[in-house]
Amino acid sequence: MSARPSKRLVGVLGLAALISACSTSPLGRNQLAFYSDDELAQMGQQSFAQYEQELQTVGGARASYVQCVADAITAQVPASQGIDKWEVKLFQDDTANAFALPGGYIGVNTGLLDVATNQDQLAAVIGHEVGHVLAHHANERVSTQAATQTGLSVLQTAAGLGGAGGDQLMGLLGAGAQYGVILPFSRKQESEADLVGLDLMADAGFDPNASITLWQNMSANSQGEPPAWMSTHPSNAQRMEGLHNRLEEAEPRYEEARANGIRPNCKA
Ligand SMILES: [Zn+2]
Repeated sequence: MSARPSKRLVGVLGLAALISACSTSPLGRNQLAFYSDDELAQMGQQSFAQYEQELQTVGGARASYVQCVADAITAQVPASQGIDKWEVKLFQDDTANAFALPGGYIGVNTGLLDVATNQDQLAAVIGHEVGHVLAHHANERVSTQAATQTGLSVLQTAAGLGGAGGDQLMGLLGAGAQYGVILPFSRKQESEADLVGLDLMADAGFDPNASITLWQNMSANSQGEPPAWMSTHPSNAQRMEGLHNRLEEAEPRYEEARANGIRPNCKA
């Protein structure tokens, strides 16, 4: 992810992507990608604006805390992703939910702070959500949808959100829970976001072991009706195993970051 391919290689890959409308995910899957990064960023920006219109944003110490964790995570995003600045907002909502959108937008609900109880656990969630963005899952989902009939409404509303189509687009981007449009990411996408997120949090100096605790907290919190965040992020033994396996790589990265003085100290 941090490797910098030569310009020539980028050119060849770009051409190949154009011809096949396909790209490759962090786990080497072929992905549909009908849209440019700019188009996705525009969709992300519009979705975020709609979210801001309908939910109250929260300021003060809690918002600064979320900003602090998000800043540490996004500082590790390679420049090649083309996102200069990330916008971070804390929303007043009891649901334990968070999302990140193409173009660099991060939303965290106040309810998540009751479940992710320290900076490392919050970093696990934000890292995971940013992982979806870095793995271009939104492009894959919107493109897949566009390949079907219902994709028409998505395309029509891409220029301006509103109505059922706009809600559906938000769902595809990963921010639809607020609107009752929960479109779960696939298991493969979740695994990719987990792995990218774990590397991100470790490089940012957050203890990657907190990701395991976070998932346990989420499970304990979901007695009865599971919160939206759980529904869109199915937890299972396979996923925990994937995280455990990746910890072997993430722990040395964490140690290295700490040794290099990367020690975030975000106060709840
Ligand atoms: Zn996810």
